Amino acid sequence: MNKKELEIIKQKALEDHIPIIMDDTLDVVSKILIKAKPSRILEIGTAVGYSAICFSEYLQENGSIDTIERDEERAKQARKNFKRVEVEDKIQLYEGDAVEILPTLQESYDVIFIDAAKGKYPFFLEQALRKSHQGTVIIADNVLYKGYVMGDYNKHKQRTAVRNLREYIAEITNNIRLETEILEVGDGLAISRIR
Ligand code: SAH
Ligand code: MG
Repeated sequence: MNKKELEIIKQKALEDHIPIIMDDTLDVVSKILIKAKPSRILEIGTAVGYSAICFSEYLQENGSIDTIERDEERAKQARKNFKRVEVEDKIQLYEGDAVEILPTLQESYDVIFIDAAKGKYPFFLEQALRKSHQGTVIIADNVLYKGYVMGDYNKHKQRTAVRNLREYIAEITNNIRLETEILEVGDGLAISRIR
């Protein structure tokens, strides 16, 4: 992978105000990937492909990533970026709403990264659990949503998102199939491992 090209992709995404994974969060996820040695990764929320490109470094030989993006422009940019750093053979981009695409994916994955519409996290979790096996790590970004999730923030216009993030956190902490930790890194990162 050409690090210089990756840096250009990152800077362009930041300039365009695309909410790419934060550096601290990427550090944590990278460590998880090194341990997990994944062959199959699922990502919900590609944006312009920055995180998927970063994750592809940690795939086992012949491993691959499935990633989903509903925004046409971003999906187009992501495809370009995958070619640019020559990872297009390792990353399959599904264009469309993850709510519709996820039920059509039949495979199971070693690592699942949830990083899309916060109001859909409970649904994404249900789908992720269906696509997991023992040892699968389900990682969700932005679960603390700028602190709204832990505060009593109810009048905010994003209250549906907040309610659904709280539901997500309740489910991962109560589900006995899962061993969960929530880190304050970035915008809040939830890491759940299937027992
Ligand atoms: N993972 C990326 C950032 C993703 S930003 C990175 O770190 O580089 C979140 C993306 O999820 C946005 O581009 C948004 O268009 C997409 N998204 C939100 N809800 C979605 C949905 N229901 N289906 C598919 N994509 C969705
Ligand atoms: Mg995010």
